[in-house]
Amino acid sequence: MPQEQNKGLQPKKITILGATGTIGQNTLDLIERNPSHFQVVALTGNQNIPQLVYQAKKFKAQFVATADADKYQDLKEGLAGCDIQCGAGKEAVLEAASMQTDICMAAIVGVAGLEPTLHAIKACKTLALANKECLVSAGKLFMQSVKELNTVLIPVDSEHCGAYQCLAAEQPENIQKLTLTASGGPFRNLSEQELQYVTKAQALKHPNWEMGAKITIDSATLMNKGLELIEAKYLFALEVDQLDMVIHPQSIIHCLVSLKDGSVLAQMSEPDMRVPISYSLGWPQRLQTPVAPVDLADMGQLTFEKPDMERFSCLALANHTLYNTQRLGPILNAANEIAVEAFLTDKISFTAIVEIIEQVMEKMESHLANFNPMELNDILQIDERARYLALEMLKLRV
Ligand code: NDP
Ligand code: MG
Repeated sequence: MPQEQNKGLQPKKITILGATGTIGQNTLDLIERNPSHFQVVALTGNQNIPQLVYQAKKFKAQFVATADADKYQDLKEGLAGCDIQCGAGKEAVLEAASMQTDICMAAIVGVAGLEPTLHAIKACKTLALANKECLVSAGKLFMQSVKELNTVLIPVDSEHCGAYQCLAAEQPENIQKLTLTASGGPFRNLSEQELQYVTKAQALKHPNWEMGAKITIDSATLMNKGLELIEAKYLFALEVDQLDMVIHPQSIIHCLVSLKDGSVLAQMSEPDMRVPISYSLGWPQRLQTPVAPVDLADMGQLTFEKPDMERFSCLALANHTLYNTQRLGPILNAANEIAVEAFLTDKISFTAIVEIIEQVMEKMESHLANFNPMELNDILQIDERARYLALEMLKLRV
């Protein structure tokens, strides 16, 4: 594996939250390729203890935590004889997130990552943010904390990382519109009727990206793009009418920034998450990755289509949420997490995912009337209530 030297600079201390997931593993792949640039401080995981133990030993982490309190003995035994501290349960993950570092990669999936990432904002200089659910559920609180603590926030989600790069040299008043691209997922060309019969195995086969199960299903329903529009609204402080999306099946262009003079800036790369991850790890420098720059002549064609909100109605729900993200974001996110999990455990069909989310949103929206949660406890209570209702809806179906 070719290794790049760090030319006399101190290695950056790094913690990875969600190290055992696909983003976590890709992050460690880049660290392995650039060993003199990084020093791993802490790693966290949840169920996959063998992977966590392997990573901890290989990268000589100081501290390792699993979120699952029942897995403490497994982790302890796996690390026996090594000089690596470990812990299990929520407090242990928060301890890992609170270790002082140069970079924290926030890559836990779901709202489970919210509190650890809020702790990381206080402890690291640069937050590499993959976990989009943090922003969907608690974007205002999250961005306020980033601002107050002067933490550098680099988005890892490929579209947002691309937008961050395109926007770097632009004044806010020059920006007309940000367009996120979406591959359209594996069911882009299916009819409403056909969507009712798609299987879990089909939904888990994303045409372009290798990702964890939850985001892969979100990509198949197109909820992922809805979540990403909300993510973009918070990250770049844009108005709803400045946000757009377009289907681009090849996933080469990740975002388009339209400027007032008629220019459109785009960021391109092969669909390999190591490109945006490396940007966040290397910032403000660039790291060497094994990914070759795109060769347009070789590709021949890049295509674009308008999204179909009727067939992919998760997009319509997310669009509705965009107008009231602070109130509806935590509901949309929690109901989606429960519905996707139910699909992944064969409890509901693919098309039932959006039905459950819609029912939960309908039930909760009127009750919350003018309540815009800002405190973490209020957000977590709304999250809990939406999960409870989604589970109730599930019971009615089986
Ligand atoms: P994975 O499912 O592959 O990994 C999730 C990670 O979170 C694992 O380390 C897992 O541990 C850990 N985890 C799961 N549940 C909990 C919990 N309750 N508490 C603490 N840790 C937990 O997901 P991805 O790596 O694909 O995605 C991570 C985040 O990044 C998501 O928010 C996703 O939307 C976002 N993202 C991912 C992209 C991708 O290409 N994968 C692209 C853009 C954004 P374990 O495996 O040990 O159980
Ligand atoms: Mg994305």
